[in-house]
Amino acid sequence: MKEITVIDNDFVYGGFTSGSSGIWTRNEPFDPPSADYVLLGARLGISLSRVVRPYQASGDRVEIVSSEHGGSGVIKDNELKQVDGLVTVEKGFALSVIAADCVPVYLADKSAEVIGILHCGWRSAAGELFDNAVRKMCVMGASPAKIEVIIGPHICADCYEVGDNVRSEYAEKFTEKEIGNMFFNRHERLYLNLSCAVSAKILKSGISSENISEVRACTCCDRKFYSYRRGDRGLQNLAYIIMK
Ligand SMILES: [Zn+2]
Repeated sequence: MKEITVIDNDFVYGGFTSGSSGIWTRNEPFDPPSADYVLLGARLGISLSRVVRPYQASGDRVEIVSSEHGGSGVIKDNELKQVDGLVTVEKGFALSVIAADCVPVYLADKSAEVIGILHCGWRSAAGELFDNAVRKMCVMGASPAKIEVIIGPHICADCYEVGDNVRSEYAEKFTEKEIGNMFFNRHERLYLNLSCAVSAKILKSGISSENISEVRACTCCDRKFYSYRRGDRGLQNLAYIIMK
């Protein structure tokens, strides 16, 4: 098991963990919560009715959640379907997403007391997921200039070989210069630096560069984490954030 503290201050706590078994999902609507969620709830000192996990789809949807969604995807069937981003203003209410190489993005606006978390795969990184999250946070009183963003552990550029189709899709969304910074060739293979792509997207949304930071850890290089690229199937890491 490996756990990294991504953010910890007087306002918010966020972590990234493999859990002990890497299982955060349930097979049936009435199955009990996974053992890893039970341990996480105990460690955070909260009931699992105060934890939310969406059914992710590597898309662009972000939902504002509150107590009424509590336990969704954790102790009860999931009402948050095809959702890759969560935003809340509730304290002591944990937002979580699963990730096994994709980029977890942590968002916090302390002055407005709004937090969010995103599951950002290569397609979402070039899409509207991040903009949608900022927009929803602003609906709840946040402002782009005050939002702090942390790019969490994900697959590093050296591990992330991609097809030409990825670069073609990106060419429609990013400038040539940005593309030049994101992709590189090695031994006639193409690689993508996801954090570079996510950062480019974040900067376009009006977040200032000094409010962006990154936790450098690779889910594929570090065998204590689960990695889809390395061959893990059905096993993931969990990224979560909670307002104190
Ligand atoms: Zn790596």
